[in-house]
Amino acid sequence: MRVTPGDPQFDVVVLGGGPGGYAAALYASAAGLSVALVERDKVGGTCLHRGCVPAKELLETASVARTVGNAKDYGVMAAGATVDFGVSQARKQKVVDQLHRGLAGLLKGRGVTTVEGTGTLTAAKKVRVRSEDSVTELAGRHVVVAAGSVPRSIPGFEVDAKVVMTSDEVLSLDRLPASVAVIGGGAIGCEFASMFADLGTQVTVLEALPGLLPGCDEDIAGVVSRSFKKRGIAVHTGVEVHGHAPGPSGTTVSFGDGESVSVEAVVVSVGRRPATEGLLAPGCGVEIDSRGFVAVDPWMRTSAEGVWAVGDVVATPQLAHVGFAEAIVAVKGILGEPVVPVDYGRVPWCIYSNPEVAFAGMTEAAAREAGIDVVVKRDPFGGNSRARILDETDGMVKVVAERLPGGKAGRILGVHMVGPWVTEQLGQGYLAVNWEATPDEVAAFIQPHPTLSESFGETVLALTGRGLHVG
Ligand SMILES: Cc1cc2nc3c(=O)[nH]c(=O)nc-3n(C[C@H](O)[C@H](O)[C@H](O)COP(=O)(O)OP(=O)(O)OC[C@H]3O[C@@H](n4cnc5c(N)ncnc54)[C@H](O)[C@@H]3O)c2cc1C
Repeated sequence: MRVTPGDPQFDVVVLGGGPGGYAAALYASAAGLSVALVERDKVGGTCLHRGCVPAKELLETASVARTVGNAKDYGVMAAGATVDFGVSQARKQKVVDQLHRGLAGLLKGRGVTTVEGTGTLTAAKKVRVRSEDSVTELAGRHVVVAAGSVPRSIPGFEVDAKVVMTSDEVLSLDRLPASVAVIGGGAIGCEFASMFADLGTQVTVLEALPGLLPGCDEDIAGVVSRSFKKRGIAVHTGVEVHGHAPGPSGTTVSFGDGESVSVEAVVVSVGRRPATEGLLAPGCGVEIDSRGFVAVDPWMRTSAEGVWAVGDVVATPQLAHVGFAEAIVAVKGILGEPVVPVDYGRVPWCIYSNPEVAFAGMTEAAAREAGIDVVVKRDPFGGNSRARILDETDGMVKVVAERLPGGKAGRILGVHMVGPWVTEQLGQGYLAVNWEATPDEVAAFIQPHPTLSESFGETVLALTGRGLHVG
């Protein structure tokens, strides 16, 4: 084993090449800093290889299958269409590989030194990188820890990649199971449930909390729940799973009060834990919180001077774009520039199930719990012409605003959407929430017709007290 002493000097050493890490590397290099990026697998991380991109690519396959399934309603006869999941997987991999090549090229082009191997932060600002045949020590003026996360499992459901899977295995399946039990009805669980159902798999969702999509506005989650049930997805909420008994062609999952379901495969989707094994050597000075996440302050500083942490390895919303935003906060801090911490209560959330969900800001319940008097308006997509044309009318836009003395709607606190392509419509709602705009201000802007985004305009107009189609 060759050991290179800690000579290479970089302004920033980034540990982990997922969205948090590569964003830190790109932003720092764009600011003229010298950067080393340590990655043990492939740059792009969970998001590109085992998360956002492959999951959304396969959900697009599901969307194509739906479109073909409904084609006859439009006079397009496509009877007998089938899904060749091998082709779907190959297409997904092609998209991932193209994006991976693009990212690797971008990092190279920006002068980022990518170091392959597993990194450990030893003393403050020193990273030891082990690869198959060498150990290298990198020293930086600053270190950004961005090691990300891995799927959590639950006792009694050991992952064997055949019957019991996590998202990692689902995204590499070479054929569709006839039936699955999805344990966990959060964002990822609902996306998988939706994808499998649209591709013809019989799906059962088992969620311990009282409803699907915990954290979402209740009206919005209710639309998803009803839509799932309408499509034949069995949804059991408020149930704990107890274990499973494998059989010749799958397994039987027991849950709730003596209930069970026999399925070909189980997808465990109960969240992700920080990837901190072997990451921090004793004495490196970086503290871990009680749940195992790297502890940071709002400026992404760890307890060790010059060491920052961003992305899923810290206890903030586990979203790729939150990792990007945190990376920018950290690098601005490194540069000594003024910086505003990420406002986690107002980040955009998107869930790509059918129907899609997108929101930013406070739910109605959260606002009321915080003691805020609110005015709420909803515009169901059933009245939207574009949604009728698409024949995707399940859904609504809901806007929560504070109630001013006298009853008028003031600041927009939350924008919540469920329905067709809402992930692409959240932008203006996100701006309204983060700009602390009022309905009067936002309603002055014109929405093109016919578009899905008219529903947002209508909802905001209704909040001014003079809605056209919404009362
Ligand atoms: C199925 C699924 C769907 C998702 N969909 C979305 C979505 O639609 N939108 C969204 O915003 N988010 C989504 N996410 C979440 C998103 O993928 C993560 O929030 C994001 O990838 C976190 O970025 P990160 O850089 O913090 O960590 P990661 O992406 O996990 O990257 C960490 C990287 O560090 C490397 N690494 C770890 N330890 C070491 C070490 N010691 N040495 C060297 N390298 C190391 C890993 O190999 C990895 O490449 C999804 C996740 C999953 C699982």
